[in-house]
Amino acid sequence: MDIKSMTLAELTAALAELSEPAYRAKQLYAWMHVRLATAYEEMTNLPKSLREKLAERYPLTVLTKAVRLDSKLDGTKKYLFRLPDGNVIESVRMEYHHGVSVCISSQVGCRMGCTFCASTIGGLVRNLTPSEMAEQIYAITRDTGERVSNIVVMGTGEPLDNYDNLLAFLRIITDENGLHISQRNVTISTCGLVPKLRSLADLKLAVTPAISLHAPNDELRRKLMPVANSFSVRELIDAAKYYTEKTGRRMTFEYSLIAGVNDSGAQAKELAALLKGLSAHVNLIPVNPVSERDYKRSLVKNVLHFQKMLENEGIHVTIRRELGSDINAACGQLRRHYESGSGE
Ligand code: SAH
Repeated sequence: MDIKSMTLAELTAALAELSEPAYRAKQLYAWMHVRLATAYEEMTNLPKSLREKLAERYPLTVLTKAVRLDSKLDGTKKYLFRLPDGNVIESVRMEYHHGVSVCISSQVGCRMGCTFCASTIGGLVRNLTPSEMAEQIYAITRDTGERVSNIVVMGTGEPLDNYDNLLAFLRIITDENGLHISQRNVTISTCGLVPKLRSLADLKLAVTPAISLHAPNDELRRKLMPVANSFSVRELIDAAKYYTEKTGRRMTFEYSLIAGVNDSGAQAKELAALLKGLSAHVNLIPVNPVSERDYKRSLVKNVLHFQKMLENEGIHVTIRRELGSDINAACGQLRRHYESGSGE
């Protein structure tokens, strides 16, 4: 069992097996999740014999920085981290007026197959463990020295396809004995695995899902997102309603605008009708062109028109602010370039 993925209760039990008292578990937990230690040697208030025993039994999951790209425009930093098994993943540090946000990956690769997305091109390699998700935040905190206030699970991978590890990760980062990030400051982006979204609603957490919709009807959504063959737009909207009923959280719908595919006035109208009566917020994202695909981003005037059409129907809309546009490879592209040997 990965020691950094354990809850404090699990860690206390594991240390009890080594005949260690509960306060040792608390000390160790704080070293891992507050002081963000990268080796047992740093944990100087633990007896040397215990540190040696732990090092033997429990390798500490630590990510190493392979690449960091710094935007010269707005402080965005893109990281490529190496996992203990040699795989690499992407994370991004962004600055907003309310603090520092980190966007993390939840899987190595992805099996959802969205046609506009670079992360899914090589398929799913494996799930990330809870500690590998948390370590992305820890490694960025160690690197920059600043506290992270917001987390978006919006990098590579489908978080609800790695549901149990996602929940364990949420427990770790919101734990008052760890970084203690507020649940309200966590956003989970999903392509819409309906049963998992409903299970998450039943937990009544204060985290906010962002639903990747990208199309106002089943026919078009199935062309863009294979997951739409498993769940209809109607089922997805009903699950979103259920989430809001259970938790009181307002839903965000992400809609990436692709020129000539999903950005017409008629499609905006159809989207507005779909979301009517829902306390929803729509985030429009001009699509990031991916070299392996031939989608183009919508013209600015079409983006603004799409926004206006939705607003006229009383829907709250934002256009995603482009951060780090000078280092703005689309999600998953940094990793792909790195792995194909073309550097960053
Ligand atoms: N699997 C999750 C989270 C990862 S993708 C999900 O589907 O939500 C994060 C967001 O980026 C999703 O809304 C996804 O549809 C969107 N996205 C992926 N590739 C994109 C691209 N090339 N341009 C714009 N948005 C993209």
